[in-house]
Amino acid sequence: MERVILIKYGELTTKKGNRNFFVKTLYENIRHKLQKYHVNIVKEPARMFIEFDESELEEILETINHIFGIHMYHVAYKVPTDLSVIKEEVIKILKNENFKTFKVETKRSDKSFPIKSLEMNPLLGGEILKTIKDVAVDVHDPDLLLHLEIRPHFSYIYTNAYHGLGGYPVGTQPRGMLMLSGGIDSPVAGYLALKRGIKLDAVYFEAIPHTSIEARNKVLDLAKKLVNYTDEIVVHIVPFTKIQETIYKESNPAYCITIMRRMMYRIMERLALKRKAKAIINGESIGQVASQTLNSMAVINEVTSMPVIRPVACLDKLEIIELAKAIDTYDISILPFEDCCTIFVPKHPVINPSLEECLKIEKRFDFKKLIDETLDEIKTIKISDLQETEQKYQELL
Ligand code: ATP
Ligand code: MG
Repeated sequence: MERVILIKYGELTTKKGNRNFFVKTLYENIRHKLQKYHVNIVKEPARMFIEFDESELEEILETINHIFGIHMYHVAYKVPTDLSVIKEEVIKILKNENFKTFKVETKRSDKSFPIKSLEMNPLLGGEILKTIKDVAVDVHDPDLLLHLEIRPHFSYIYTNAYHGLGGYPVGTQPRGMLMLSGGIDSPVAGYLALKRGIKLDAVYFEAIPHTSIEARNKVLDLAKKLVNYTDEIVVHIVPFTKIQETIYKESNPAYCITIMRRMMYRIMERLALKRKAKAIINGESIGQVASQTLNSMAVINEVTSMPVIRPVACLDKLEIIELAKAIDTYDISILPFEDCCTIFVPKHPVINPSLEECLKIEKRFDFKKLIDETLDEIKTIKISDLQETEQKYQELL
C-alpha cells in the first residue's frame, strides 16, 4: 500500500487574504529542502501531500522537522476512494497495530462520496469490531485513533500524528539582519526570527588580532546550524578593530561598551539598507548585562529608527540554553574563543548611561568616516544548505 506524508498548515490557515502566498512559500521551501530525495509534492489549499520513496522516509521526516510553517503531519496510507477498498485496507492496517480501544474519526472533503462522516465512523467501527478480536470502542480516551480523510479519487488513512515546528514559512517576511556573535543567545534569537518567517542575513563584528580566526569560524559554524532551518544565510564579517581601538582611546572605560554598541547599531542600519532588510535582530536579554538594562537599551537604540527585534528579550538564561540545545547550537556556543565584546569589557560598565555623555564622547572622533571605511572592508560569505563551505572559510583568511 502506498504511503504519503500529509501536511497540515495550522496557523497558516488563519491568514485569509495572504493564504496562497503562505502556502506557496511553504511549498517552495519544502521543495527546496527535499530536492535531493525522490519525492512528488502536491499542494492543496488546506493540505500538502508528499509522495516518497520508503527507503528515504526517515531522512525526509528529519528534514521536515526543520521546516517552519508545518503545524502537524501524518504518515498516511493512500487508497482509492471506494468504500469496499477503504474497509479492506483499514482492517489490513489495524491488524499490525497493538491496541485494546479505538475510535474512528472521518473527515469527508469529497461531498460526492455518498456516506457522511458521522455515518462512516460507526460503519467502519462495526467492521473493525467484527474482524479484530478483543477490541472495543472508546470515544473519550482510545488507545488508537484511526483517521480517515475522504477526498476525490484518493482517501487517506492514518493512526499517527507528529508535531511540526509551527511558525511561518521563512520568506513570508522580508529580510532581517541578525547580529550573530559566538555566544549562546544570538543563534537562538536567529532561530526565533526565522520561526516568524523572517529571512536572515547575519553580521559578525570581529576585532582581529584581539579576536581569533577560530572565533570567526565558530560564528560561521553557528550560521551553518541556522541554515538547517532556511536555505541560505549571507554572513557579513565586519572588521571592527579600528573602531574599537579608537573607542578605547577616546572614551572613559565605563562608557566603552555603550559607545561600541551604538557603533554596531549604526553599521547594522547601513547594512540593512544595503540588503533591503527591515529590522535588526539580536540576542539581547533584558537585564542580562550592563548594556542590556532598559536604560542602556534606550540609549543604544537612539542611533537608529529601524525596528530592533530582540526575540530572547524576556527569556531567562536557562530557557535560552534549553532552546540552544534543542537547535544544536549550544555545544558550539560554549567553545572558549572570545569575541570582541568579551575582550574589551571594562570592570565597571555603566548600567544607566546618559545620552548627553555618549554624544560628548562621540564628538571626540570622526566616527562617520570610520564607519564608512569599515563598511568598505566588510567580507561576506554565503552559507548555503546546498554546498560545503569549509573551503570558503579558508579563502576568507
Ligand atoms: P552570551 O550568550 O554569552 O550572552 P552574547 O552573544 O549574547 O553572548 P552579549 O554581550 O550578551 O553576548 O551581546 C548581546 C547581543 O549583541 C548578542 O546576542 C548579539 O546579538 C550581539 N553581539 C554581541 N557581540 C557581537 C559581535 N561580536 N558580533 C555580532 N553581534 C554581536
Ligand atoms: Mg547575551
